[in-house]
Parts: sequence; structure tokens; C-alpha cells
Amino acid sequence: MKPAKHPSMTRGRLPHVSSKGLRCLNLFVVLAGLADIPFCITPCSFTTTVECALKIPSYEIALVVGDLQSVDLGGRVVVLAEAPYIDAAVKEFEDLPALLAETEAYLTPYIWGNYSIIVMPPSFVWGGMEHVNANQVSHTLLAGDKSMLGTAIHEITHSWFGNDVGCKNWNHFWINEGVNVFMERKILASYFGEEYAKIDYYTGNSSMYYDEFIGRYGLNNSYSSLFPDIGDDDPENSFSIVPYEKGSQFMLHIETLLGDAGMQAMLRAYIGHFTQQAIDEDQFQTWYEGWVTENFPENATDIIDMTLWDVWVHEPGNGPVVVDIHTTALDDAESLALEYLTLNTTGSPALMGDFDGYYQSQKQAFIQKLSESGETTVPLMAHIDEDLNIIGAFNPYVKTEWFRLGIRVGYEAVLEPTYMWLGEQGRSAYVRPIFDDLIDHGYCDTAKEWFEEYQPSYNSYVANRVATALERCDDPSDAALESTPTNETSSVAIPGDEEEEEEMLTERETPADTVEEHVSAAWMPGFKSAVLVVVLSFFCM
Ligand SMILES: [Zn+2]
Repeated sequence: MKPAKHPSMTRGRLPHVSSKGLRCLNLFVVLAGLADIPFCITPCSFTTTVECALKIPSYEIALVVGDLQSVDLGGRVVVLAEAPYIDAAVKEFEDLPALLAETEAYLTPYIWGNYSIIVMPPSFVWGGMEHVNANQVSHTLLAGDKSMLGTAIHEITHSWFGNDVGCKNWNHFWINEGVNVFMERKILASYFGEEYAKIDYYTGNSSMYYDEFIGRYGLNNSYSSLFPDIGDDDPENSFSIVPYEKGSQFMLHIETLLGDAGMQAMLRAYIGHFTQQAIDEDQFQTWYEGWVTENFPENATDIIDMTLWDVWVHEPGNGPVVVDIHTTALDDAESLALEYLTLNTTGSPALMGDFDGYYQSQKQAFIQKLSESGETTVPLMAHIDEDLNIIGAFNPYVKTEWFRLGIRVGYEAVLEPTYMWLGEQGRSAYVRPIFDDLIDHGYCDTAKEWFEEYQPSYNSYVANRVATALERCDDPSDAALESTPTNETSSVAIPGDEEEEEEMLTERETPADTVEEHVSAAWMPGFKSAVLVVVLSFFCM
């Protein structure tokens, strides 16, 4: 297997995961304000060496510098945030000690000592990042109703999948993310209910299909498999939700073969066997088949055959088995959407009042159904907003889905709140898809104008991706960019429509961004940060 080159983002400054599973002894530094650093004057320079007992993946090394406050939530959990966010963060994350304990109960003991979660400045590019002992999360998780806790749970479960047992290089990224999303949804199911987790699978699958398989890579590209052939490409170009969603579906499929108790036993044994290691999928597969042979002696061959490991991992496009993610809650959301489509502004569904009580992912499923129908119009979106006020939604996933649909349809009422939303935060999962839709649906001038204003506040990962996407505006061969939005219906391909899939493929994005850009763009203007020069000395093995 050819290891990938990794010139991207800050990994250029530190040993990275491509170096044959390199793992480092833990380095965790939180500088909570200059006043707490007695040896530091401005300009500040010091050398520090931190050696810890446990090994962590080298890409997890992080410095958190800011005017932070911390609150002990009990149960080994500490929340850190700047003053404007600390109260909301404490309230939003008050259940994390119980959720950490619950994950331990399902898996194995938490090995990292204390657990901290840090609310990052608005420009933070990810929903969360699983730095050991110091999970970083977007401030957009502070939804006020705990509807975004899934991301915090995702980072907690990374303490086992990714941080303890991790992938050897980015070709095997699903070993980190796919297994982890499966575990995240296990905990989500116990917290919010089984239906919530299933709808999460459903909306995740829809996003993977339309945004990645159709809109980005195509069903036959290895980047739509769990084993992307990265070659000399920048691995950032292979980064997508495919390893998350398809990988978690693979785990869900294995659970149907092993049963609930068998799956739990397998994951516990997997962690025990590979603890503190970075592995590849060959190691995982060999061990899995050995474990099944030992623990299911009567039907091991059948289970191993039905696992379809090679097909799941190496074949591009949809997985070979359709996993059962059907729920009545999903039916409810889709029925409501279909009734709105049938009524077509002549009335409102009798059950429209149920929408307010929907799960966040149920609301997303409602919007996705409207989108997939291809029949949603500007008057219909306006009518739905009169009924449900989705345009005023606080949940970031819901508002992003609604704004994107509005842009695709030409429902210009969403433009002003979209403009505000793009300036309030810099999370890749919200910013990039919105700019893509603006660019591809007749709003190139708007996209250029907004990007010029907001680009300095975006992390370079996002900024460079949007800049690359904007190049499509200057491609006269792209008919989609020349059309002006009208009241016509939206157009979204349906699974199996191969012709349309081919037409909708987009070019591979180009590698970009540097360490310096990343660091300088990492904070929103006005954020209070220290000028800090840190010379790191660390041990890797
Ligand atoms: Zn993750």
C-alpha cells in the first residue's frame, strides 16, 4: 500500500500520520492567559518538553491559546471557553460526564485521565477535533437545546476510535471515522432514542450520495470508496463524509451479522488488541476474521463471507448491502414534506404543528425530501416559512439545509440570513456547501462579493476551497453558472440516475494552503490572542 504524501495544513510542521503509523507521547498545553505564564514576557519565547505515559497520534498535537475560563463538570470532565461562551457551554455540555461514562460502559475504560472540551472561536473550521484530553468544538454546538450534542459525543468516542486505535495513514481514514460514527450513533441512540440515530444515518447517507458521490467524485471514483487511491494528490482532496457515512454503515452491517452483544464484544476485543496502535485495514480484517472464527465457530465462514469486507472497503459508490435505517419518525417527516408538495401552497398539512417537535435530523430529512422531489418552488418555500419559520431556525444544520435549498430554487428571502450566517462562523460543513450552491445556481457575483468580505476571517482550508470553487464562475462552458435563478423547481438527481450523475461531476479541487496561512487565518478579527513563539520538543515512536 502506497503511503500518501501530506503537505497540507499544519501537519507540515510536525510528524504526521503518514509516517508509518507514527505516534507521539502526549503533548497538551493550554495557556489560559498571559498572566498565568510566569516566565513569559512579550514578545514571548520559551522551550518546553512534555513527556507523557500514553502515545497519541502525532496529528493530535495542539496548542490552545486564549483568554479561557474553565468549569469542572464533574466526572473527569472540564469545559473551557472564552467568557462570552462559558455559561452556555456549561449548560450545553452538562450531560457529557454521563455520556463519557456510558461510552466506557459499552466499550472499555477511558485511558486518558481527565477529559476537557474547549469551545473554539467562531472561525473554527470543524465541528469538532478530537485532540486527546482537549477536544475542540465549534461554538455552533451551543444550540441551546442540546440538539448539537452529537458532535461532542463524536469527539468523546474518538478517545477510543482514532485516539487509542487509529489509522496508519489517510488511505485508512474510515478506521478512525467510520467506526467512530457507528459508536457515536450508539450513544446518540441511548441519549435521544433509536429513531434519532437512524435518522442520522439516513440524512448522512443522503448527504454522502448527493454531495460526494454525485456532486463531487462520481460513483466510480476511488474517492467514493473506503480506500481512496490518493497517490500524489493532496489528501485534503479526498477528505469527505464518505469514510464517516459509508464506514459507519459498514459497521452497522457487521452488527447485523454479529448481533448487538457480538458487536459490543468485538469492539471491546478490537480495542484491547490494538490499543495504542495505528493500523491499516488489512490488519483490521485479518484480526476480525480471526476473532469471528474463534467466537462464532459454528457459522464463522458464513459471517466472514457475508461481511463482504473487500467490497465494502475497496469498491466505490454505494455499499453492497442496504442497511436498515427506516423509522416511523422518518416517515412522518417525509410525509409532511410530500403533503406540502401535494397541496402546493393551496393549504397547509394538518400535522404541520408536529414540525417544531421534530429532532434536528428529522427536520433535515423534511428539507431533504423537499429538495429530492425536484418540485419545490419559491412560493412553496415562502408558504412553508409562513407556517414553520424554518428561515429563522437556530439549529445550524437545519438553517444551512434550508438556505441551500433556497439558493438552489431561487428563493431570495434566504439570501440576507445566509449572508449573516456566513459571517458568523467559519465551519467548513456550513460555509463550503453554501458557496458551492451560490456558485452553481446563478449567484456568482454574490458569492464573490461575500467571499471578498469574509475570506480574511476564514481558515485557509475553507478559504482556499471556496476560492477554487469560485473559479467555476469564470468557466463559460458551465451552463449552470450562466442561468439566473427562477421560480422553476430545484433539480436533484435521484439514486440510480447514471446519466445525470455523470453530467454533475465536478473537477477535482487543487491542493492549496500553507502552514502560515492556516495559523494567521485561524482566528476571527478582534479575537484576543497572544504573540507566542513555542519551540516544541517531543518524543515519537
Ligand atoms: Zn471524527
